[in-house]
This record gives sequence, structure tokens and C-alpha cells, in this order.
Amino acid sequence: SAIASKPTLTLRLCDPRGFCAGVDRAIQIVVLALKKYGAPVYVRHEIVHNRYVVDGLRDMGAVFVKELDEIPDDGQPVVFSAHGVPKSVPAAAAERAMLYLDATCPLVSKVHKQAILHVKRGRHVILIGHRGHPEVIGTMGQLQPGTVSLIETVDDVAAFDPADPAALGFVTQTTLSLDDTAAIVAALQAKFPQMVAPSSESICYATTNRQEAVKASAPGSDLFLIVGAPNSSNSKRLVEVAERAGSTRGVLVQGPQDIPFDVLGTKDCVVGMSAGASAPEVLVDAIITALKERFTVSIELVQTAEENENFPVMRTLRDVPLTGA
Ligand code: SF4
Repeated sequence: SAIASKPTLTLRLCDPRGFCAGVDRAIQIVVLALKKYGAPVYVRHEIVHNRYVVDGLRDMGAVFVKELDEIPDDGQPVVFSAHGVPKSVPAAAAERAMLYLDATCPLVSKVHKQAILHVKRGRHVILIGHRGHPEVIGTMGQLQPGTVSLIETVDDVAAFDPADPAALGFVTQTTLSLDDTAAIVAALQAKFPQMVAPSSESICYATTNRQEAVKASAPGSDLFLIVGAPNSSNSKRLVEVAERAGSTRGVLVQGPQDIPFDVLGTKDCVVGMSAGASAPEVLVDAIITALKERFTVSIELVQTAEENENFPVMRTLRDVPLTGA
């Protein structure tokens, strides 16, 4: 008698995917601060946009707060998230003589510096990004009100009417869609030919590499799974990139429970997969395990870049051993 065999699922697994150097550093800062100072270590905002990571750190003794005034205890350290913070936040912490550890990604800090440099050179700053995202709040918060304007879309460019169109400089959020951003920059350059670009690209290497790998693996796939949280900007962009590059459907999944098996049915299929910069590999593994329960999974690695970036933690934490109890 014939044993019904499972259908084959060809899994195009993107490389690079998942954690970037900035996220890795931010998590290390919280873990090392817990080892050095003991619990509680306060963390302002989600350290990175991933519930699994946040829950894990909470279990170790991290206490997440929205604002500094929720912290009752000036004696314990507070960590600022990888997305960066407005200038007013470290200023308020210093005012209270709090011990703060700034986990802002160095690539976000670089964007801050370039925005400040535009102002120093007499330019009004255009920030291309998504309103309300913590990184955008942090970057705008480096500058005096009235010196920076947020542009979210090509339509915003048409409506933008600066006081001095000849004195403009732009920066962008680090986790945007490369294609959308290129279109917005082109529209700005057409309208304001004298606008000055930042001295180096604001969109970071991790965003760029993850989008390129998804682009390469998306064409002809029946489904594209992006492991990431609904509030993760770079993860949401990966879903858009997958669909635009020719995947029938892109879906953001937080874990195996979100896999849309109904979309796949019971036929042989091709599925692409990547993970946002804040999504841990353990979630990727759990999804592959769940796929293997219903399909014979054959993994094809799609490697489009090699990453060797590593951002060291601040000096005060370097002597703390990362391993051991
Ligand atoms: Fe830094 Fe880019 Fe990672 Fe954001 S996505 S933390 S800018 S490396």
C-alpha cells in the first residue's frame, strides 16, 4: 500500500537575515548591565522591536518603561534603546544624576551627526521617514523645532514649501525601503536641485543587505515569510520588497503560529524566508520545524552579501564577562 508522502516545500532562506550589529549590541548592553549592576536595569522603550527579545530580558530582570519619570530609583542604570532618543532624554537623565547607558546604534548616531551638520551649515533639515517611529522621534529630537521637516511620501514633497529652497539638506531613517526612498529623493532633487545629501547613505548596511537578499529570492515564490514584529519598520519593508519583487504573497510572522498554511495548501510549493534585524534566529528555527511537520522541506540558501559588522559595547561594560552566571 502506498504511504502518502508529504508535499515538497522548497525554502529559499535569505542570508543575511535577522539580527544586525546594532541590535546585537543593544541586547548585550542590557545583559551586561544586569550582570554588572544587578536587577533591576531599566530600559526606556522596547530595546529592539521584538517581543521574544523583550520578554527574555524582562525575565532576566530588565524593567521596561516609556519615560524616565516612571523610574522610581536613581541608583539603578537605565538603558536607551537602539533606535536613539531625543537630546532631551540624556539631558533629563543627567539632571537626575542617573547612570544611563545609551544603546543607540552607532549608525543611527551617525545620522544624528549628519542632521546636526546640515543645521551648522545653515541648512533646513529634511528627514525622510515614518512619523511616530522612535528613530524619527529621536532624530528630530536632535534639532531645534522649526529646523527639521518630516517627509514621508512623494506626495509630501509636492506640498513641502520651505522658507529657503536653496538651503536644504536631507537625511533618512535607517530602515526604509531603498526603492521608495530613491523615489522620494529623486522628487526632492527635481524640486530643490540645491538640496544637499548626507556625506554617506543613511539607510544602513543591514537594511540594504536584507532587502537585497529578499529581492533575489522572491521571484516566483508562492509565499514569503518575514519573521518580525508588526512595529518593526525594517521587517515591514521586507514584506513589501518580497511582494514587489515577485512573490505571490508576503506575510509578517512573529512565530510558527502565524504561518498561513491555508495559503500553501497541500501541493509542492516554493517559500521564501527572511527575518528582520530585530528577529532572533530561534524564531526562524521554530518556523522551519513547523514547516517540516507538513512538508518535506528542502532548504536553498540565497546568499547575497557577507556581514562582518560588530559594534563593541561601551567601555564601562567591556570588563563584564558575557558568559557564566
Ligand atoms: Fe543599526 Fe541598522 Fe540595525 Fe538599526 S537596523 S540597529 S541602524 S544596524
